[in-house]
Amino acid sequence: MTDAQQQAGSDIVVGAVRVHGLLVDEQTRCVHYHGDRDVIAIRFICCHRYVPCFACHEAIADHAPRRWPAHERDAHAVLCGVCAHELTVAEYLAVEACPRCEAAFNPGCRLHHDLYFD
Ligand SMILES: [Zn+2]
Ligand SMILES: [Zn+2]
Ligand SMILES: [Zn+2]
Repeated sequence: MTDAQQQAGSDIVVGAVRVHGLLVDEQTRCVHYHGDRDVIAIRFICCHRYVPCFACHEAIADHAPRRWPAHERDAHAVLCGVCAHELTVAEYLAVEACPRCEAAFNPGCRLHHDLYFD
């Protein structure tokens, strides 16, 4: 455990949405990913909870994560932590910034898409 992990661990509420995990601020940054552009949370289909990253899911969930199947691209599953806009999977995969508030999303997340989406 790092100092950051010991201090974190509280859920936050963005708009009307509760985000679960080891959060370190009010824009969904967590102990694992907390750069300028790490401002999204993903709703996991296994538990329908918004969580900022797969490592947070591992920390708080008692089950293995499930990925969004390819036929569920219309599901609202990505939350912008800046303005609380919910994007569909298809929308998220097609943009580099929030379509509502234009907050830039971390392009490095694309390297991890296969952890979340089939
Ligand atoms: Zn889950
Ligand atoms: Zn995390
Ligand atoms: Zn936004």
